Amino acid sequence: MRLNLRWPSRAVGRFEKWIAQRHQERVLAGEITPQGPCPKEDFLQKLARKSRGIPLSDPRVDHAATCPACMRRLLAMRREHHARRQKVMLATAVTACVVIAAIVTVARHEVQKRSSTTNEAVIAETVNLWGAGAFRGQQPGQLQSVSLPAARVRLTIILPRFSSPGRYVVAVTHGSDGNGLITEAASTATNRGQQETLSVDLDLRRAHAGQYYLSTTHERDQASYYYPLQIR
Ligand SMILES: [Zn+2]
Repeated sequence: MRLNLRWPSRAVGRFEKWIAQRHQERVLAGEITPQGPCPKEDFLQKLARKSRGIPLSDPRVDHAATCPACMRRLLAMRREHHARRQKVMLATAVTACVVIAAIVTVARHEVQKRSSTTNEAVIAETVNLWGAGAFRGQQPGQLQSVSLPAARVRLTIILPRFSSPGRYVVAVTHGSDGNGLITEAASTATNRGQQETLSVDLDLRRAHAGQYYLSTTHERDQASYYYPLQIR
């Protein structure tokens, strides 16, 4: 038969605590006569912080463990030390919260910046009006509908068959009579084979999604050609 002489650790902890408590009470009541003089304050400070630099064989340790005055100082220091540690922990927690909040704010700002950068991006679009009918002034014909994003657009327009070479003004308007101008840009047509092609930068960021008109006006022929434009 094996005898298990080890007590459950929790019971040992409780027992040791009780012994320490009893010892403390007896010291504070002056029932134990301390040996030697009281050590200096900084030594008691080190002892209160359980400094590993102090060997237990040091006679000052023995004194502090048996002197009511030193014991009282030690207990007070322990309480101060504990309170300070709690304050540090609280401060650390607050700092962590502030840091997290800062990271969240910066991340949000980055996302906003990125989305606004996306907004800044120039989108290339091509509109082929080669076979398109337009209407000139108030004469609607067979209409070619055009769709563009509400963004900065680098627009390439393939002008309708039989278009003249030269300089054109391209405009986006609310009305089919040129009213409610959103933006306009001028460009000289380049000839590619049989086709006349225009390239213009249009800023449609301020336009809301909806129905507009895209117009082309030749510099020598002041009449404009309008195409229904859907801004998406
Ligand atoms: Zn003492």
